[in-house]
Amino acid sequence: MSENFPLEKTRNIGLAAHIDAGKTTTTERILFYAGRIHRMGEVDDGTTVMDWMVQEQERGITITSAVTSCSWRDCRINIIDTPGHVDFTVEVERSLRVLDGLIIILCAVGGVQPQTETVWRQAEKYKVPRLAYINKMDRIGADFFAVLKKMEERLATRVVPVQMPIGAEDRFEGLVDLVSRKAILFEDEMGTQAVSGEIPPSLLETAGTLRDRLMETVAETDEELLGKYLENKELNEEDLKNGLRRAVARGELVPVLCGTSLKNKGVQVLLDAVVDYLPSPMDVPPVEGENPESGLQEKRRANASEPFSALAFKIMADSYVGKLIFLRVYSGKVKTGSHIYNPRTGRKERIGRLLRMHANHREDISEIGAGDLAAAVGLKDVTTGDTLCDEKHPILLERIVFPEPVISVAIEPRTKADQDKMGEALQRVLDEDPTFRMRTDEETGQTIVSGMGELHLEIIIDRLLREFGVKANVGKPQVAYKESIHDGARGEGLFQRQTGTRGQFGHVWIELEPGEKGSGLKVVNRIPQGKISKEFASAIEQGIRDALESGLLAGYPVINVQVILLDAEFHEVDSTPLSFQIAASMSVRNALEHTKNYLMEPIMSVEVVTPDDYLGDVIGDLNGRRGKIEGMESQTGGMQAIRAHVPLAEMFGYSTDVRSLSQGRATYAMEFSSYEEVPKPISEHILSRIYGYAY
Ligand code: GDP
Repeated sequence: MSENFPLEKTRNIGLAAHIDAGKTTTTERILFYAGRIHRMGEVDDGTTVMDWMVQEQERGITITSAVTSCSWRDCRINIIDTPGHVDFTVEVERSLRVLDGLIIILCAVGGVQPQTETVWRQAEKYKVPRLAYINKMDRIGADFFAVLKKMEERLATRVVPVQMPIGAEDRFEGLVDLVSRKAILFEDEMGTQAVSGEIPPSLLETAGTLRDRLMETVAETDEELLGKYLENKELNEEDLKNGLRRAVARGELVPVLCGTSLKNKGVQVLLDAVVDYLPSPMDVPPVEGENPESGLQEKRRANASEPFSALAFKIMADSYVGKLIFLRVYSGKVKTGSHIYNPRTGRKERIGRLLRMHANHREDISEIGAGDLAAAVGLKDVTTGDTLCDEKHPILLERIVFPEPVISVAIEPRTKADQDKMGEALQRVLDEDPTFRMRTDEETGQTIVSGMGELHLEIIIDRLLREFGVKANVGKPQVAYKESIHDGARGEGLFQRQTGTRGQFGHVWIELEPGEKGSGLKVVNRIPQGKISKEFASAIEQGIRDALESGLLAGYPVINVQVILLDAEFHEVDSTPLSFQIAASMSVRNALEHTKNYLMEPIMSVEVVTPDDYLGDVIGDLNGRRGKIEGMESQTGGMQAIRAHVPLAEMFGYSTDVRSLSQGRATYAMEFSSYEEVPKPISEHILSRIYGYAY
C-alpha cells in the first residue's frame, strides 16, 4: 500500500520527554488513530509495538530510535522514536538532526522535569520546531496552568497555549481549541469520537483572555498580521493558523496542547496540530554541507530535481534482512538497484532494497525522495553519520559529534569460543551505537567497553550475554578518567634505525600547551612550508594523536591540549611516514615528561526531587559525595528539587542509596556536565590504587 504523498504533505517528527511522561503511550495512540495498528498496546503489559527489544519491554523504556510511518488527514507522518533515558541523550541528538519537528511531552503533574529541559535545549541547538503536549491531565494533581507557568519560567523559547483543558483529574473531559474557538469533547471510552461543540459558559472568560493572548503573541511575530490585528483587534482562524505555522517553523513560538494519552483524550487533536503547525521538509532551510573536493560549502534544497543527498542516521541489525541503514533523504531521489556514493570511503555502493517501516510491518518501496525517511538494505560499509550522495555532485553533510564516554567496564570471555563470539557481537554493537567504545587493555589483555552511563553499559552487556549468548565475567563499572597538563613544554623526537640498505629516519620538534576547556586535542602545523611532504605531516599528526591516547600519569587519554608542530627534519632515502609517526609520538612523550600532568574526572549535573522531610538528608549525602549544591526550588506537593554537580565516581549505586534515604520517595536524574581536575588527595589515592603503592 504505497501511497504517494507530495513533499508538503510530509511531516518528519519525533517525540521526546522526561522518562515516564508518556512518550511510548502517546506514540502508541498516534499509531492507533493514524490507522496502522488495530489493537492498542499498553506499556504496562509490555506489548507495545515500538518497544520491540526484549530489554526495552522488561525495563519499560524506549532505547532504539525506530522509524515508523503512518498517515493522518492527507499527510504522511514519519515518526522517529527518540529514547527517553538520559544515558541515551546522544541518540536523542542524533534523531533531532534528521527531524523537522518535535512533540515534547510533559506530565501535567511533574511539569518541567530535568530531561524536559535537556531535550528542550538540544532541540534549540538543532533549531527543531516544537509542539508541547501536556499529558496525563487525568492524574490527581494535574494542573495545566501551573505547568504552563513553569515552562515560561524555565524554558527559553516562548510558549503559547493553543488549547485549554475542560476539567482536570477524573473530570477531564476534553479541551477548548483556542484557534477555532470550539470545545472538543471525548465521550466514549476509547476516545475515538472527538465531538466538537460550544465552549462551556464557565470557561468562556478564560478562553477569551487566552485567545487574546494568542492573537497578540502571533501578531508580534509577523508584520502583516500585526497590522491586521491592530486594525481589527481580531485575527481569524486562518490567519492564526498560518501565522503560528510560520512562527513555529522559525522556532519563535511553541504551541502548548493538552490531553491524556492513556485515557484516549486529545491525541487526534495533537495529530491535527502536527499537520497544521509543524513544518514540512519544504518549510525548513536547505541542508548545508561541504563539497569534499573543493572544500566549499554547498546547499541542497528539498527538491526531487536536486542531486541526491542523504544522511545515514541509524544502523540496526535485523535478523531477516541483515543490516538496515536508516536514511533521511535531503535532496533528489534514489531508486532500488541504483548506486550511491559515500564520500567517507570514496566508494560506490548499490541499494538492494528500500523499506518503509511501519510499527508492525514493513513495505518494499521502489524509490525514496527528498524529505522522506526509510531504511536501505544492501549497503555494507556505511556507519552512523555517513553522507550518501550522487557521485557527480559529492557533498559531506555535517557529521554528528558524539561526546566521550564517561564510564567503562572490563569483560573477560570464559572460553576461546566465547572470545570469538564476543568480538563479533561487540562489532555489531559498535556499528549500531557510536557512543559505545571498546579497546583491549594492553597490560591485562581484558576487553574494556565504555559508554555514556551505568544503564547504557548494563544494556549492552545484557545484549551480549542474552541476545548473542556470550559467556563472560563482567567487572565493576569504572570511571573513564582523562589526563591534562598545567603548563607547556617543548618536546623532541628522533627515530633512527639502520637496517640493511634502507633505514628509518624521522626527526620532529613540537610544543605542547594547555588548551581550552572542552577542546579535546588541537594540532597546529607551523613547520615551515615545503620542508616536509603532506604525507609526512599527516603521519606526524597521527603519531601525536596516538601518543596522546594514553597519558603519562595512568595511561588515560590526554585532553584539552594544543600541539604546535615546530619543525621537522627528513632524510632523502630513509624517511617514511612510519618513521615520522614514531618520531612524533616520541616528541609528545618527551614533552609530557617535562610538564605537570593531572587527572580529570567526569562531573555530572544531578537533580534530585525529594519530599521536604528528607531534604536535609539528601543534601548531607550529596555533600558527602563531593557534591556542590547549585540551587534548590520548591515544587508542588511538598517536594523540593535540588540541583548539584557531583563527580561520577561518587554516584555509583546512587539510585539505591537515595531510595533508602527517602523511603523510596526521592527520584533523580543525571547527565554528563564536564571533565574537571580531580582534587589532589583523591588523585593520589586513585593513582596509588592503579600502581599498587603510594604515589
Ligand atoms: P515514557 O517513559 O515517556 O515512554 O512513558 P510511558 O508511555 O511508558 O508511560 C509511563 C507511565 O505513565 C505508564 O505507566 C503509562 O501507563 C502512564 N501514562 C501514560 N500516559 C498517561 C496518561 O495520560 N495518564 C495517566 N494517568 N497515566 C499515563
